[in-house]
Formats: sequence, C-alpha cells, structure tokens
Amino acid sequence: MRPGLLALPPLLASHLSPGLVVLVLLALAAGYVALALARPTRRCPRCAGERVTRTRWRHRIRPCRRCSATGRAPRLLAPLIHRTYWLIRHERTRKP
Ligand SMILES: [Zn+2]
Repeated sequence: MRPGLLALPPLLASHLSPGLVVLVLLALAAGYVALALARPTRRCPRCAGERVTRTRWRHRIRPCRRCSATGRAPRLLAPLIHRTYWLIRHERTRKP
C-alpha cells in the first residue's frame, strides 16, 4: 500500500472538509438570524447615529434621510427575518 493513501483521510479531516464548511456556514447563519431577531436595527451608517447630516454647501445641518432622523437603520435582512418569524408565530397561534 502506498503511504500517501493512508495519510489522505486525516489530512482531509484536519483541513476543510465540505461537511464542516456547511456546518460552520449554517451555524453562522443561525447566529445572524438570532442577532437580527434580538437587535433588528443598527446605527445608521450615513449619519453614524447623529440623526443629522451636513450638506456640502455651507455645511448646513439637515435631518438624515437614510434613517428618517431616527439614528437607527434596519440590519441587513432583518425585515425579512422578522416578517418570516412573525408569520410562522401567527400561523402557530391561530385557532382552527
Ligand atoms: Zn441616519
């Protein structure tokens, strides 16, 4: 038997196996869904939570249009996750 064949399985297991990659991606996705459910908004990236933006001309202060002057912007995919979550909850609690 060739020594290379014996060394191959542990090498694959210690390196990135496709199953492990899928598992890690699923864990990351589940973690992000949990985060989006717990904290659906993040600081507005445009005004950095200041709620106002400065115009280039004379540096005037205007309410931030991106977050409607709330300072918070929805997290990526959070509206979709919440819509799905509440749809499922509503269907489960609905009486027949
Ligand atoms: Zn803003």
